[in-house]
Amino acid sequence: MKIDLSIIIPLYNESESLSELSAWITKVLDNTKLSYEILFVDDGSTDHSWEKIQSLYLNNDNIKGISFRRNYGKSAALNVGFSKSLGEVVITMDADLQDSPEEIPELYKMIKVDGYDIVSGWKKNRKDPISKTIPTKLYNAVTRWVSGIKLHDMNCGLKAYKNQVVKNIEVYGEMHRYIPLIAKWAGFQNITEKVVHHQARKFGVTKFGLERFIFGFLDLFSITFIGKYGKRPMHLFGTLGTVVFIIGFVFLFYIGVDKIFFNKTGKLIANRTEFYVALTSIIIGVQFFLAGFLGEMLSRNSPNRNYYQIKEKINFNE
Ligand code: UDP
Ligand code: MG
Repeated sequence: MKIDLSIIIPLYNESESLSELSAWITKVLDNTKLSYEILFVDDGSTDHSWEKIQSLYLNNDNIKGISFRRNYGKSAALNVGFSKSLGEVVITMDADLQDSPEEIPELYKMIKVDGYDIVSGWKKNRKDPISKTIPTKLYNAVTRWVSGIKLHDMNCGLKAYKNQVVKNIEVYGEMHRYIPLIAKWAGFQNITEKVVHHQARKFGVTKFGLERFIFGFLDLFSITFIGKYGKRPMHLFGTLGTVVFIIGFVFLFYIGVDKIFFNKTGKLIANRTEFYVALTSIIIGVQFFLAGFLGEMLSRNSPNRNYYQIKEKINFNE
């Protein structure tokens, strides 16, 4: 059975916030006529978050819960939530009361009526320490440039999706930072943003330190590479290999001709700078090719090599 709205809330040690959060969401949603579920995904909390969720459920049967045996990370929690969600519109939000449930009705409308695939929150006036806000600006600028998706706040926890989007993407590792990019590669292009209200953390502490920026950039490279070249690695490595190899070859040709015809008694070849440029370029060029061949062998054996998503069909009765 389909319902109107799923709210997915990944959480790790957020017990102090949960009652207030669920009361607030319920208050907002009970003013609408929407049918909904609130799906708490407890990512291996070691405080009393799970007991709290159990007690909340006793008073509200729109509440659902899943708990991990240990802490797997926000991406894993979202991924499970996505696979279990029944709502036509799926909204994710953080558990720490930094995101406001008051945004839900408008986000719902933007998906359902305006027809966007994804609406990403934008914490324009962000209530976090400066150690977070400044690096985040840089990170978002780079991500916009690499991905071509014009969002100011790619990693906002508050986002809304069409159900099809969440059923057709997989979030793993720490890739939750790039869900719009993953969705874009899956073919969902209609992405926009909405300025959302943001509050300072009331209880508990942030779960992400500064290492997020290093990991974040590495993930951006992987995601872009896999999305663009995952099924044709030779196109990337072969091109790089050819370019570097040609550079090496040109240098080699130059010192060879020079030595044989013009400069017979000059410096030894092995004493010339050009020689080392030629040598390293040729070796690196060949290595790029090898990486390309290995990549092709891996992708040829991958069970996903012919995986694509069908959007619609006409006159098929299966
Ligand atoms: N979270 C999670 N698993 C983790 C880390 C975080 O489910 O391993 C949840 C966390 O409980 C919160 C949300 O992800 O609901 C965002 O985390 P946090 O507020 O610490 O991030 P920040 O707002 O500081 O970026
Ligand atoms: Mg937070």
